[in-house]
Amino acid sequence: MYSVVVPVFNEEEVVVETYKRLTAVMQSMAEPYEIIFINDGSRDRSAEIIAGFCNSDKSIRLISFSRNFGHMAAISAGMEYASGDAIFIIDADLQDPPEIFPQMAQKWREGYHVVYGQRKKREGETLFKKASAKIFYRFIRRMTDVEMPVDTGEFRLIDKKVNEAVKKLPEKSRYIRGLVSWVGFKQTAIMYVRNERFAGQTKYPLRKMVAFAMDAVTAFSYKPLKAATTLGFLISIASFIYIAVILFQSTFTDTTVDGWASTMGVILFTQGITMMILGLMGEYIGRIYEELKNRPAYIVQETVGFGTGTNSTTPFA
Ligand code: UDP
Ligand code: MG
Repeated sequence: MYSVVVPVFNEEEVVVETYKRLTAVMQSMAEPYEIIFINDGSRDRSAEIIAGFCNSDKSIRLISFSRNFGHMAAISAGMEYASGDAIFIIDADLQDPPEIFPQMAQKWREGYHVVYGQRKKREGETLFKKASAKIFYRFIRRMTDVEMPVDTGEFRLIDKKVNEAVKKLPEKSRYIRGLVSWVGFKQTAIMYVRNERFAGQTKYPLRKMVAFAMDAVTAFSYKPLKAATTLGFLISIASFIYIAVILFQSTFTDTTVDGWASTMGVILFTQGITMMILGLMGEYIGRIYEELKNRPAYIVQETVGFGTGTNSTTPFA
């Protein structure tokens, strides 16, 4: 059996189309399947529309959160409830084509445990989104100690074994693609073109993108802290040289050493760096605090359509 995990946050404009396209693909694969929509605290009609699918189609399931917990929490819930031997993860907005599921399944049958979609091109997104995404993936790659493929989101197939392994990881901050890379197994890529959203707007404004990048880095490396040490070391060396130059000037030459401007410059510069590093440490400490509280990553308000089995008839008939 296959499972499809679809996070949904205010997607009333797209869910009908998502349902149709996913169903068409899943039916073409000639295997029982379930499609799990996770309603991540949508404030529009997404949940009602999906509950409607559940009534008429046994393969559809809905998990509704008690509020918005975020994209990664939604996918985690889907993975928790999925019972397939292979699990597809895909966004609701159809930017990633479900039509390549059969190719992913083919690779899986060849023995790969993770088949991730890698974007060779992104279409219909702003230049800013493309550039920031590109920088993001390269930055994460440099900053973390886990081998993570670039230009790869959550769009992928994972084997049941991988899912079990990822589910066992206890952390609440769940950067899914990182966790999936971390557990290892046999992984491979399929190249594809990322399209425009089918409808609606991105649910990832700049603020969320920055927070996401911070989560990704802090969850997988403390290289930023090491970089802070190196920076402090370099600044110390530079100041020793500078002090030596000043001492030389005041002892052996007649030039007067400039006072105010250089003093202020050095103070502001070092203070700035110190504050930045304190903030960086705060980011880590805050996350330790979050993990320590041990609150769940999400709270389920209700589920619909579980335990109904799967259907083999065409729901459109
Ligand atoms: N999403 C979610 N919770 C959120 C934000 C987004 O479940 O808090 C879902 C959203 O409905 C979509 C997917 O995560 O299915 C990716 O979001 P989006 O397409 O807006 O991000 P982008 O592709 O612009 O990075
Ligand atoms: Mg999208």
